[in-house]
Amino acid sequence: MTTSTMLPNHLGGQWVTGSGAGTPLFDPVLGTELARVSSAGLDLSAGFAFAREQGGAALRALSYGERAALLGAIVKVLQANRDAYYEIATANCGTTTKDSAVDIDGGIFTLGYYARQGEALGSAHALLDGERIRMGKDPVFQTQHILSPTRGVALFINAFNFPSWGLWEKAAPALLSGVPVIVKPATATAWLTQRMVKDVIDAGILPPGALSVVCGSSAGLMDQLQPFDVVSFTGSAETARIIRSHPAVAERSVRCNIEADSLNSALIDPAATPESEAFGLLVSEVVREMTVKSGQKCTAIRRVFVPRALFDAAAQAIGAKLAKTSVGNPRNEAVRTGALVSQEQKASVIEGIAKLRTEAEVLFDGSSTALVDADASSACVAPVLLGSREPAKAKLLHAVEVFGPVATLMAYDSIEEAYELIRRGEGSLVCSVYSADPAFIAAASLELGSAHGRVHAISPDVAASQSGHGNVMPMSLHGGPGRAGGGEELGGLRALGFYHRRSAVQASSAALDVLAASAVALKL
Ligand code: NAP
Repeated sequence: MTTSTMLPNHLGGQWVTGSGAGTPLFDPVLGTELARVSSAGLDLSAGFAFAREQGGAALRALSYGERAALLGAIVKVLQANRDAYYEIATANCGTTTKDSAVDIDGGIFTLGYYARQGEALGSAHALLDGERIRMGKDPVFQTQHILSPTRGVALFINAFNFPSWGLWEKAAPALLSGVPVIVKPATATAWLTQRMVKDVIDAGILPPGALSVVCGSSAGLMDQLQPFDVVSFTGSAETARIIRSHPAVAERSVRCNIEADSLNSALIDPAATPESEAFGLLVSEVVREMTVKSGQKCTAIRRVFVPRALFDAAAQAIGAKLAKTSVGNPRNEAVRTGALVSQEQKASVIEGIAKLRTEAEVLFDGSSTALVDADASSACVAPVLLGSREPAKAKLLHAVEVFGPVATLMAYDSIEEAYELIRRGEGSLVCSVYSADPAFIAAASLELGSAHGRVHAISPDVAASQSGHGNVMPMSLHGGPGRAGGGEELGGLRALGFYHRRSAVQASSAALDVLAASAVALKL
């Protein structure tokens, strides 16, 4: 890739380069320009119509099993090109190989999962939702709820932190459902998304119009949406507000899924001691969540709740581990934590830390340690652990998401207070609970479930097998109420619901028998 190469968009079944000078994409460590993107001058209306009509019709002509085979073929193409994806991620996202894997292999794994799930749906073209229900005394007239693929496009407006996984975790259920995809990646890291789409298109796996990518400005994209289209947005709460209030959603009832920011928590059992296994597990997980992808994960732990008696021990143990974290150029194998994705994100994280510091003390600040193979002009930021012994009095600590290697330790006096403080996040993606006591875990899960998309319990017996607080697994629900956006993604075949329309067919048993022959029961 030479400097300033304009990455073409794929829309209307063809590759189209946007007009104008475009927006540059940078290496966040070296500061060099890598490529440019532009969506200026694209015929969005024709592109959306092509996807809706050509792509949609071709995908719907296939069964779930046939579409699952397409997902399997995409997996093979992506696996064959993995090395190129890692190179792009290192250059454009500033991530170490291990951190790039979360995005790249996480995306491929999710696709593979849906390929296997879809295969089991076989030759069907619709899904049966539940059993038939009698409508009256005479059993001949019944109602059967069915799910049919929506006859529109799925527009994905994605965040910068997962250019691979963010695409495939949405595209897998959409394509399996028979719904064409148009993805608009976040500009800062659009290269990886664009390259993956290019490889899949070049391989000729999908029918024309099934997969499109628009890089650069989002201007005009939402205006294209029609009543049977869907939009899935991942990003900040601020942009989410714009999406929600757009006439497509507000007036044309375009179905809208929002994955926004989140002040996720970690909670340790009040009975834990500094010597307990639960304590060690909490410390390791907090450090992992603060440092993986430099804390640029929507699911990362932002608030850590410990009983007051454990506050100092937790601060010391987390700080000691963070002190061993080397930060810098991801090309150096000694580096564990790479850069933030851009100078804008660095400025935003520094500003965010300053805000939180008005309500918290600094328990650990890695910025005094020299960066490895990177200088102060890079977008590298060292981890910072803040602390509050009076979190009930804080406002910003429960409201400001600093999207970087930053978390705040908080003391609680009773478990009821801890639950209350966790809920001050006003809805989060995930809360992890650390305890050796199954009864405590069960009680905490019931208490916290309604405010979270996921409760992740880490007990000594699952220490080696647990999937990680911040890792989003395709079989489990992703999303959260309130501030987290109110969205739902993944959760196995539940994800297909967003791309299908539910209707009740009220008919004779004979007609429902015929209908059932081309459908399959949705088993969750
Ligand atoms: P962002 O600034 O809101 O941008 C998200 C996407 O929206 C980008 O593709 C952006 O394009 C686009 N966009 C910006 N303005 C728009 C508009 N007026 N209309 C339509 N689209 C518009 O968010 P971000 O900085 O990329 O992502 C970080 C945030 O995402 C964090 O708060 C994080 O918690 C959240 N996040 C949440 C999840 C989740 O699953 N809940 C996952 C990942 C990230 P440009 O890049 O071209 O501006």
